[in-house]
Amino acid sequence: MPEQVIRGLGVSPGVVCAPWLRFGSQLETSAKDPVGGSVAEELARVKEALGSVSEEMTARAARVSGVAAEILSMSATMARDPGIVAAAEKELTAGMPTAHAVHLAFESFCAKLEVLGGYMAERATDLRDIGGRTVAVLLGEPMPGIPEPGYPFVLIARDLAPADTAMLGDSDVVGLLTTEGGPTSHTAILAKSLALPAVVNCPDADLLVDEVPVLLDGTTGEVVVDPSPLRQRAALEQAAADQARIAAASGPGRTADGSPVQLLVNIGTVDDAVKAKSVDSEGVGLFRTEFMYLGKAVEPSLEQQTASYTTVLEQFAGRRVVVRTLDAGSDKPLPFLDLGTEENPALGVRGLRIGTVFPETLATQLTALARAGAATGADLWVMAPMVATADEAAGFAALARESGLRKVGAMIEIPAAALRAADLLAHLDFVSIGTNDLSQYTCAVDRMAGGLAPLLDPWQPAVLDLIAMVGAAGAAAGKSVGVCGEAASDPTLAPVLVGLGVTSLSMSVPALPAVRAALAAVDMQRCQDAADAACAARNPQVAREAVAAIIGRP
Ligand code: PEP
Ligand code: MG
Repeated sequence: MPEQVIRGLGVSPGVVCAPWLRFGSQLETSAKDPVGGSVAEELARVKEALGSVSEEMTARAARVSGVAAEILSMSATMARDPGIVAAAEKELTAGMPTAHAVHLAFESFCAKLEVLGGYMAERATDLRDIGGRTVAVLLGEPMPGIPEPGYPFVLIARDLAPADTAMLGDSDVVGLLTTEGGPTSHTAILAKSLALPAVVNCPDADLLVDEVPVLLDGTTGEVVVDPSPLRQRAALEQAAADQARIAAASGPGRTADGSPVQLLVNIGTVDDAVKAKSVDSEGVGLFRTEFMYLGKAVEPSLEQQTASYTTVLEQFAGRRVVVRTLDAGSDKPLPFLDLGTEENPALGVRGLRIGTVFPETLATQLTALARAGAATGADLWVMAPMVATADEAAGFAALARESGLRKVGAMIEIPAAALRAADLLAHLDFVSIGTNDLSQYTCAVDRMAGGLAPLLDPWQPAVLDLIAMVGAAGAAAGKSVGVCGEAASDPTLAPVLVGLGVTSLSMSVPALPAVRAALAAVDMQRCQDAADAACAARNPQVAREAVAAIIGRP
């Protein structure tokens, strides 16, 4: 059979060749299945099944750490929710067979979450996953989820539930291929944090039948089905050479002709900071403070916040730490900030806008940061998320400086802010571009909508044009312009961003070595040529090809 090439979006770099296996799908249930014992007996079975799923999740949480452990613990708690038991009892009383009653109970809750959209809709994926596991226990069938064949394989799935992505590090999976999902999906972010090559949004993966090897390239998004031995050898030799080149680069970010480009890491918790301390980076380019408080019903006190921020800053003595004030709302709701129900939360009260509804919360956070900065003498930079106008930037800068903070900036995630970057910079010391939200708002696509992923691609020429405007404004003002969205971790895009005027890149820890090596291989002139070619392209695919022709393989 001739080789077949299918394509998706490369979201986590690396090349791998292994047989593929499909994710175990959910078991079907039906109202026509045979009914078991009495309602009381069947309810007891349901409770037992939920209990065993919850225990399994807790046990899995104990085997991993960080985000993965948090996701699994949350799933364990969901499986113990009395509301699920009550809903299942209602279905059993109505005469439904047991497994179907459980399926209906979970679906009723999922429907409610999906109506809310954003972060809450994503929780529906977690909940559906728990429902599927409970049904499997009741039917005595194997668990849906990641196969365990005992040999390395490329996992093919529609998109992965967070509970499954959380287990990837503990499995035989060596590469990921999904038919849906976008560059900012859980699958993409987790794959990157595990340094697992991944291609998402590849609908043709659904058509694969024979379990032959696939050669997957997480940088280009290309997947060769049943590659010839010659091609396999060439690709794996190339991958080994890439790895050696990446491992050889170290120290501060530089282009080949010595222009500095700070390479920083993204963190979300004190734990992340402790782990990132020994990484070869120039500091933190994005500390997502809201990540410490997701799921918390009570606002953290001034003392608690000061203590957390102090610990984070202590890890990076002598290095820069850019802290973002709470970016709550929409996909990241904080229970202690009740924003009521919004029709369209991504366009509602979120980011800096929270400060107008809860001014005390913003003031407390700024005070805590100033105290932590004073206590540690750290190179502390503080920025606001989701700033739209120069007046907002000026208002935030005044508040932050009154609180005693010296380096004050804003994130550029809204096209309005990019278009008027020069006006914003008049009040600020620096800006940092959040390409995840900038892509969402430029092409008007929900960043969680996997089906529309090509429109969320940061290689979209319109997004690159906006970044160019910010880069030019930064250069004119002599001020720092960072990128801290997922785009910063793409080694092919990094030289383009630098050519557009970006002076620092902040990314997940595993992405950093490949970006450092990519920059070290190109001089500033080629960065600028790559930037011109990318902006002149009519779509992301043409832009990638044009840039690859200039800088070669990253
Ligand atoms: C972004 O939008 O690119 C960003 C870095 O912020 P977040 O992903 O936390 O919204
Ligand atoms: Mg954002």
